Amino acid sequence: MSEHTPVSRTPAQYKSDVKPVWCPGCGDFGVLNALAKALSKMALRVEDVAVISGIGCSSRIPAYTSCYGFHGVHGRALAAGTGLKVARPDLTVIVTGGDGDGYSIGGNHFLHSCRRNVDLTYIVMDNRVYGMTKGQPSPTTESGWTSKLMPEGTGLGAIHPMALAMVAGANFLARGFTGDPNGLADIIMQAVRHPGFSFVEVLSPCVTFRPEQRDWKKMVHEDAFEATTDAALATQRIMADDGMSLGVAYTGARAPFRPPMGVGRLRPADLEAQFAL
Ligand code: SF4
Ligand code: MG
Repeated sequence: MSEHTPVSRTPAQYKSDVKPVWCPGCGDFGVLNALAKALSKMALRVEDVAVISGIGCSSRIPAYTSCYGFHGVHGRALAAGTGLKVARPDLTVIVTGGDGDGYSIGGNHFLHSCRRNVDLTYIVMDNRVYGMTKGQPSPTTESGWTSKLMPEGTGLGAIHPMALAMVAGANFLARGFTGDPNGLADIIMQAVRHPGFSFVEVLSPCVTFRPEQRDWKKMVHEDAFEATTDAALATQRIMADDGMSLGVAYTGARAPFRPPMGVGRLRPADLEAQFAL
């Protein structure tokens, strides 16, 4: 995270004047609130924080914050966020998005960002559906979930993002719930403060295309995860979990990746010159 002088700001000051266009009741409102709360508690200056996203309902978040932001290309948020953090290690970089953006189009970036372990935080608002494009199944959609677009379900098993992140090398793993903004804010703070690649899966209902997800508030529980530095134990808990456990599951000790800077590093102008026609 950024190491600049702390400032006192209310959570509201981390939000912009842009009014979210999310459907009323969308889980992403709670994530925006939790993010603003976490930034306020960490007393970060808005100019020291960059919120980077791809495409999708949840990827609108950068516009709703008063921090620096970048609403990028579908699935490429982690590539943009990684480049930014490498070029500007002084910034706190928070990458945000949804399950379709992050695990399908951006799946390869997800795996390699875990492996690369650059010091940034990745928050995925998982509603197990493509919301913005009207309800197609995503990589985390349950095989039996049916809709007008997929009347017989996908017949495919859903991926397990936390397990994937664990084996790919993420240095911090947690799951939060948008219906618990205080708990989620605490998780986001821990994720931002933990060195290396921090992955936060957020259960964030799509009330329009998956109205049954309103029941998640009755299904989440906090008894299965406990922060541990033991990768084998964390993996065991993650694999035994029902997908509804909240909390921090793993805090790794791997040193964040920092590419060598200085001698031999190309300046953008020199790079451009090599491609001049
Ligand atoms: Fe939220 Fe779903 Fe509406 Fe998108 S379609 S804004 S995810 S409720
Ligand atoms: Mg989604």
